Order: sequence, then C-alpha cells, then structure tokens
Amino acid sequence: MRRLAIAIVGGGMAGLACGLAAARAGADVRIHEAQAVPGDVPSHHVDVVPNMLRDLVRLGVGDACVRAGFPYRRVTALSQRGTPLLSLDAPRLAGPSHPAALGMVRADLHAVLATAAMQAGACLRYGVHVAGLAQDRSGAMKVLDTGGDGMVADLVVLASGGAGALRAQVFGSEPVAPASNEWLYFLARRPYGLDEAIHAATGTGERVHVVPVNSSIVGVRLSARRPLPAVTPESVRAAMARFPGALGALAEHMDASQPVVRRLIRPALLDAPWTRGRVMAVGDCAHALPPHFGQAAAQALEDAIVLGELLRPGRAPADVAQAWFERRHPRVKQVMSIAMRAAHWDEAPDIDTDFLRLSRELDEVVRTPA
Ligand SMILES: Cc1cc2nc3c(=O)[nH]c(=O)nc-3n(C[C@H](O)[C@H](O)[C@H](O)COP(=O)(O)OP(=O)(O)OC[C@H]3O[C@@H](n4cnc5c(N)ncnc54)[C@H](O)[C@@H]3O)c2cc1C
Repeated sequence: MRRLAIAIVGGGMAGLACGLAAARAGADVRIHEAQAVPGDVPSHHVDVVPNMLRDLVRLGVGDACVRAGFPYRRVTALSQRGTPLLSLDAPRLAGPSHPAALGMVRADLHAVLATAAMQAGACLRYGVHVAGLAQDRSGAMKVLDTGGDGMVADLVVLASGGAGALRAQVFGSEPVAPASNEWLYFLARRPYGLDEAIHAATGTGERVHVVPVNSSIVGVRLSARRPLPAVTPESVRAAMARFPGALGALAEHMDASQPVVRRLIRPALLDAPWTRGRVMAVGDCAHALPPHFGQAAAQALEDAIVLGELLRPGRAPADVAQAWFERRHPRVKQVMSIAMRAAHWDEAPDIDTDFLRLSRELDEVVRTPA
C-alpha cells in the first residue's frame, strides 16, 4: 500500500514532533521550515513539565532530552524574604526510570526532535517558505513553496505558529488576540546549589521562575506587573534586583552573548474546527496557551502523539484530520480554561482564586495521557 504523504508547514516544536510521530507511523513526511538555519531559535529555556517529559518519552526522545537538559524534581516558592514558603514534588509521570521534570535550552530540544524526526525518515527542508496550498482534482494538496518543488501531499499539517498569512488563507482571518502580558526570558550563570525550579514574587507584583538547564546555566522567566519601558540589560537587572538573595543577582550573570527574549502573551484558540478537509492546524497555530503550568509545548506534543496514533494504513486523510480534531479539541479546551483562570489571576490576583487548587485541577487532567 502506498505510504501517506504528509507535508508539515513549520519546523517549531509542533511541526518537528508531528513529523517525528508521523514518520514513525510509516508516513512519507516532509517538514518545510522558513528559517534558513536549523535550530535558529531564540535563546531561552523550556520548562519540560512532567506531562511534557512523559510525552517526550512516548515520542522516543526522553533519554536524549534528559541527557541534554537538567532534571529537577521539586518546585519551591520563596517568600519575599527568600525563605521557602512551599515545596511541591513534581509527579513522575514519565515513569520510575525518568526524572519528574527537566529544564532545557530551547535550541537543544529542537535539535533532539529534529534529529529523531530525520532518523525516523522525515525530510527536513530549511529556508523554505510555504506561501499557499492548492487542492488538485484528485483532492490532494499541492504545497506552494519558495523551494519550488511543490510537494503533493495527502495531508497537510499546519504548524506555522500563532498567526500568519497561511493560517488566514486556510482558516480565514481571526482577530489577533491583544497581548495580555509580557514575559522576559534570559539565560544566566547557575548559582551554586540551585538545582530545582524556584518561583518567587515581589511585593510590587514582579514574578520570576527559574529552572536549571544544565550544570552551569539557569533559564529565567520574569514577568513584570507593567512592561518595562525598554528591555535592556540594565532595566532587567533593576527588575531582578527586587528579588531576594541569589535570585536578585541572577541578571548580573546574564549570558551577555544572548539577547533577552520578549514573549508577548496572546492566548487564543482557533475557531473550531481546526481542520479544513485535508489540512489540520496543530500547536500554537490552533491553540496558543498562556505559559501558566507550562502547557503550550506540552499540548503541541500531544497533538503529535494523537496524530501518530491515528495514522493507520488505508485510512482516508480527511478522516484522520477529523478524528484528530475530535480527540484534541475537548482536551485542549479544558487545559486552556484552567490555564486562563491562572493567567487572569496572575494579572489581577483575587482572593477567590486558589492558584494551588488550579494547579491540582490541571494535574488531574494532564496526568492521563491524551
Ligand atoms: C520565549 C518563549 C518561551 C517559551 N517557553 C515555553 C515553556 O517553557 N514551556 C512551554 O510549554 N512552552 C513555551 N513556549 C511556547 C512554545 O514554544 C510553543 O507553544 C511551542 O513551541 C509550539 O510552537 P509551534 O511549533 O506551534 O510554533 P512556533 O514555535 O511558532 O513554530 C512555528 C514555525 O513555523 C515556521 N513557519 C511559519 N510560517 C511558515 C511558512 N509559511 N512556511 C514555512 N515555515 C513557516 C516558523 O518559522 C516557525 O519556526 C515559549 C515560547 C516563547 C516564545
């Protein structure tokens, strides 16, 4: 039987993971990525939370991620004086032979996924911008790309990120969600003994989350109550100095060769359905989750795992897309609703919202694999 030809648009985490899962399931996969250089992603960390690590293991790349990252097992919240308020053990959802969670440099995670996808047989094409999709008389999709060799695909997986002309072409334009918040990410020298995830807040509303990513570096995520007027090493240092102890000094030891990465938070779900015939939207293209509870990339991996499970020989491509949507939509909506309650609380804390309870609610949902 002929192998299903799958074109993936976008080589971010969603596209790479879908490429890996689909190639493992026996499809003929080509990933089109507009960036010219593999791994040319902003320099920051990814907090690989327990369900995300479990799903990296399910994708067969758990060990490679553990080798490239820094395992941690606990999240500690510090008081404004720097003393521990609360320590929670992260659940070991990836099983007894893997750690609970990891910090990783984003480019390392991309490299692990890209290598595994290629080893599984996927073809990765960099520097290829997909400008459009056209359906031929047989129903197959022609990929109109700058490379010019125009793959003809049975199924197109749109993993092109949170917005963009191609998504608008396929799904219609949707208003770009207003940015609710700005978070800053940078890498810094790891203070001695910082070997778990640390969360802290100041009396004036800044929050910081720090995760070790290797033996010498930590990833820092800073959210200020109001966006900094200008993001410079000085302004970041001044904002960080409001935190107690070693946290306050982290920006003094920023990796000077890497810029601070700004992330404007624009949470949004693409209007249902996330499919148009043989085209399906995955990752941030379908669901840009807020960063609370670290579910944005985790849900992109779930998209990939479910896609891989549904690719059975002889199954019609549009049926795969439809079945995929039916499984993914309710789950992502549930995760989004919990994460959004956390995001609202983060912007305007109220006494009725119990953040810990939300975190447990989320854990209950994602503890069961997609
Ligand atoms: C600073 C920062 C920190 C983050 N930290 C975390 C974290 O700790 N935990 C977490 O869960 N999530 C995190 N996220 C979110 C997470 O990175 C995304 O949810 C995840 O990567 C899935 O993204 P994606 O692959 O769908 O889209 P993207 O990462 O946006 O990738 C889309 C890709 O498609 C390519 N592309 C777009 N259009 C075209 C086209 N027409 N032709 C060809 N290629 C195209 C782009 O070049 C890009 O490489 C973070 C995001 C940012 C920005």
